[in-house]
Amino acid sequence: MKLHRVFVPLVVLGCALLLFSCQEEEWASSPSVVDSAVESSNKRICLSSEHHQHLMLNDAYRKKCEEALSRFAKMKQSNSLKNHCASPVQLPVAIHFQNVGSSDRSCLTQMAIDQIERVNLDFGGHNSDISNWTNSASSSFPGISNGEMCVQFVIADQNHPSGYGLSDGALAITINQTQGDQINDWSGYINIIVQTNTGALGYAPLGGFGDGDGVVIDAEGFGAGSGCGSIAPQAPFNLGRTLTHELGHYLFLDHIWGNGCGTDDEVTDTPDQEFDYSGCPSAGSSSCGSVDMHMNFMDYTDDACMYMFSQGQVTRMTNYLNANLSHVIANTSNAYSGNTNTTGGGTTSGDPTGGDPTGGGDPTGGNNSICTAPESPTAVIQDPATVLVDWEDISDVSGYRIRYRIQGSSGWSVRGSAQSQKRITGLAAARYEYQLRSRCPDGWTTWSSMNTFDLSTTAPTQSGSITIEVTLDNYGSETQWELYDQKNTQLHRAGPFTDGRAGSLESATLTLPDGCYEIDLYDSFGDGICCDYGNGKFEIFGDNRSLLAHSDGRFGYYELIQFCVENGSARMVNREKDVKRNFRNKTK
Ligand SMILES: [Zn+2]
Repeated sequence: MKLHRVFVPLVVLGCALLLFSCQEEEWASSPSVVDSAVESSNKRICLSSEHHQHLMLNDAYRKKCEEALSRFAKMKQSNSLKNHCASPVQLPVAIHFQNVGSSDRSCLTQMAIDQIERVNLDFGGHNSDISNWTNSASSSFPGISNGEMCVQFVIADQNHPSGYGLSDGALAITINQTQGDQINDWSGYINIIVQTNTGALGYAPLGGFGDGDGVVIDAEGFGAGSGCGSIAPQAPFNLGRTLTHELGHYLFLDHIWGNGCGTDDEVTDTPDQEFDYSGCPSAGSSSCGSVDMHMNFMDYTDDACMYMFSQGQVTRMTNYLNANLSHVIANTSNAYSGNTNTTGGGTTSGDPTGGDPTGGGDPTGGNNSICTAPESPTAVIQDPATVLVDWEDISDVSGYRIRYRIQGSSGWSVRGSAQSQKRITGLAAARYEYQLRSRCPDGWTTWSSMNTFDLSTTAPTQSGSITIEVTLDNYGSETQWELYDQKNTQLHRAGPFTDGRAGSLESATLTLPDGCYEIDLYDSFGDGICCDYGNGKFEIFGDNRSLLAHSDGRFGYYELIQFCVENGSARMVNREKDVKRNFRNKTK
């Protein structure tokens, strides 16, 4: 842990990072309030931005990143309700200890279970020290809420990849069987890789892909307590929060200080902050003209002095998860039996207790109470791509899950619901099959018998015409737009355009059948199309040149416009944009 700190300024809409990769800066020290004796040797170091920069040198990775960003940008804001997370989205986890001297499997297993438990408490906002926020710190941040993410990390326990000697019922924990931070056998999992002597506390991709990638945690920052041989967390990073921080990166969170005053972490409810903090800063520390949220998991403070995500961060992570890790969510039912190997997350509260020392739970998975999976549901077709599935409420159930797929296809989409119904949107014109299960006091039931609904015969009847006009600024090469239907199929794209044509008009007229659509307008530099380098704008016209939507061009990387065509007429539904960035030196 004796590295000097070199930051690559990090822009969280990460694919654009290469634009800045030549601007490496070095901060000699932070202005934080810290005990200098602590800072000299025990400074939190996370190498995620360096890791990301390295990954971005690879063309294939960068392309994948851009696609992930596009999906993320299109994901609507989720409505995660605090304290109503009866049925958290579960994510299958595999933990890989690498080059460890100790092969005390039972000790490492217990440590891993405890670590996952702690992460679940942190993500769910059920950590006991959240009271520091509730009772005290929150008063410095009026209007800002801590976030409670409706997610639960579970250590996979069945259908493991072959070659690791793991049978059904055993937890997905490998010891000295993998190498590096990309483990392709374990695609579809959130991989947690514990290494020794990494030179930092950890790192993660900025937005993981669930393709065998994962977060890396140093043995000195993994878990809590006295550890197992060489895998022993060192104070002040011995409460398991390095993993909380790195999983935040994996779910697309930036460090809370972004890149200093005026460059945001892309989360609206985290205050602008100039530098990272370390140690345990005093309350009320401020920079950039506002009080700093140094108790946030995405700062650099000690484990004991970070205890919250903001609601905005949770929304961002939830959107990223839904946009880019749905295959990991879908893998849960394959990789995880539902037998609790961790608690926490969801509605659980209290301190981490160390979990189940046997690590396996009940491998038979029996659910012998009257609490059962829903049977005889109904599916009402609401529009050509939307179905409302409804079933009888069952007592003692704390949440439901539905899985569905086009009949005959492989792989499931899985959704959770706290109520006895679920609306599924974005469906194709096809026949679907689906099953339900219930979360009972003793765990998840098995899936219900198979049910079906049929969207293959519903078809749109009319079409409408829209015209899309972009007025360019002087950097047309940064501008492009894409049109998607509600199945997320790209119907049209235009741009990038050429530079030096400020004021020029680019237009396209399209005929669209009844249905809902989204237009995504991008600026690859993050400074929108107005008004520093020309007065760019973006307009969508419906029939008879009626103005459907107008963008004044003052966005950052994107502006999204959702509209529907109904009986041949277009109407606006929703729009969303990010914040315009102000760059001091825009040179090309
Ligand atoms: Zn970090």
